[in-house]
Amino acid sequence: MSLKAAVIPVTPLQQNCSLVWCEETKKGAFVDPGGEKDRLLDVAGKAGVILEKLLVTHGHLDHAGAVADLAEDLGLPVEGPHPEDRFWIDQIAEQGLKYGMAGLRPFTPDRWLHQGDACTVGNQTFDVLHCPGHTPGHVVFFHAGQRVAFVGDVLFQGSIGRSDFPRGDFDTLIRSIRENLWPLGDDVTFVPGHGPLSTFGHERATNPYVADRLFEPVG
Ligand SMILES: [Zn+2]
Ligand SMILES: [Zn+2]
Repeated sequence: MSLKAAVIPVTPLQQNCSLVWCEETKKGAFVDPGGEKDRLLDVAGKAGVILEKLLVTHGHLDHAGAVADLAEDLGLPVEGPHPEDRFWIDQIAEQGLKYGMAGLRPFTPDRWLHQGDACTVGNQTFDVLHCPGHTPGHVVFFHAGQRVAFVGDVLFQGSIGRSDFPRGDFDTLIRSIRENLWPLGDDVTFVPGHGPLSTFGHERATNPYVADRLFEPVG
């Protein structure tokens, strides 16, 4: 019996919220419920998932915009991100207005996460990796058995997260990817915060920002 997952793009920013659940217990969690609460609950209901908690990679509004409402309405505990992202969560209402999303509310996670922590969903376990650079408190959730990682805005197919936000840092982001994600294995599939899924091996071979071999200029 293993981990199941469904990716549900939410908000005008098309953020990949994931519903993850344990096949055995039917207990599940949303990873990065950024918005569209009713639609998310509909997907969970149709899959017969009993929601157990909310997991958050980082404090940006498109990833955490519906956390306060879901936590309150359903009494769900919130795990993540790392405490360095508190300043992003605290300004989530103002950030939401910038992107045309009114009524977003800050929250305090029941559990802040750190490198080496583990989060459970039913009988499934996710390893927590602290991957700063896009935001200082960004975390990644890795399921070793299923070889899948939920990486938020750290890494995308063919690209990496922005590092020009307050307290973002390009070199730190590259180091997070190379030193924290690559050791998990080339065969790992990742669900990025935006866009299509890929594998670490594919990005190590082709991603212009983090490939092992630097691309030679053409011509
Ligand atoms: Zn972000
Ligand atoms: Zn995002």
